[in-house]
Amino acid sequence: MPTASGWLYSPEGFEKGTVRFHDGTITEVSRKAKGDVLSKGLILPGFVNAHTHLGDAVVLEEPQGSLEEVVAPPDGLKFRRLKEASQEELTAAIRGALQRMLRGGTTASLDFREGGQRGLTALRDGASDLPVEVAALGRPQGLDYDQREIAALLKIADGVGVSSVSDWESGALKQLARHVKASGLPFALHASEVFREDIDRVLDLHPDFLVHMTAGRRSDWERCAEEDIPVALTPRSQMFFGRVPDIPGMRDAGLRLMLGTDNAMFAHPSVMREMEFAYQVAKLHGGVPPEAILAMGYEAANLLTGPSRMAIQEGAPCNFLVLDLPWGGDAAYRVIKATEADIALLAIGPWTWDRERGWLPKD
Ligand SMILES: [Zn+2]
Repeated sequence: MPTASGWLYSPEGFEKGTVRFHDGTITEVSRKAKGDVLSKGLILPGFVNAHTHLGDAVVLEEPQGSLEEVVAPPDGLKFRRLKEASQEELTAAIRGALQRMLRGGTTASLDFREGGQRGLTALRDGASDLPVEVAALGRPQGLDYDQREIAALLKIADGVGVSSVSDWESGALKQLARHVKASGLPFALHASEVFREDIDRVLDLHPDFLVHMTAGRRSDWERCAEEDIPVALTPRSQMFFGRVPDIPGMRDAGLRLMLGTDNAMFAHPSVMREMEFAYQVAKLHGGVPPEAILAMGYEAANLLTGPSRMAIQEGAPCNFLVLDLPWGGDAAYRVIKATEADIALLAIGPWTWDRERGWLPKD
């Protein structure tokens, strides 16, 4: 039976342990090494990507121009490309991005899926048969509310994620948010990405989470913290346009922070890569401990199947990776500095990847 041995990560920290698994399930977790050890190192749950636009992987060249020219709806470069791409191209681009994400140890993602039902279908088809948990947050085709369109969308979406209050007419966005919330599904949006947006207008929509809040003031962050609305940060995509979130300031304001990778044409959807960058840019505002950055790589689990996603325990489905890194010193720091090349083993559901043999068929 395959065994991984080393130091197990949980929100409380690392402790010594051995994990045995079979047929996609963890069969034993103990403090002793047993049997032939397949892999040794730091054992962590799969990372959770709080914010992606995986369809943007259809754009292959480096986008030029301002943020508005590249990513703003309805006519930014990415929207033109998404429209031009065939269904097959879009599905293949999403699938490729998900495969790269998995290979880098990120096993779940909350995706803002543009393109109405067509976009959602491409995401579902792209993710089919892959051992990945994807929350598909769809959106209507245009920037207006159509009751019938949303009812149809919510039949295949896990929720709705839209651009921002600035792109929408107030009344229509409120109707949309109300419709989504009444159906019991999550509603999320970007906020204060480039310039400060009216926090009352944003919070009036009762979002389940926000993306960015970079241009917000401390009082805006405190309002979100009071209402316990988590915020996904995507430092690499923001840096592409010269912006840097104040991670220490947001933490001080009490915000629950998550990490996402945003547009797939700027940033590989790997949470490991985002963690390293987040740690570095946090230093511009005084820095944060590596443990805090590592926790941000898992915070979005609470928006998916919950903290149990992270359980490395007997009876739980396999969802872990082993980083071939020595114990000792500051393990959290080693993890956020790790690269894909440090991954010795991935065990995700019935799928296993190891450095010697690559992806292995199911047991
Ligand atoms: Zn985004």
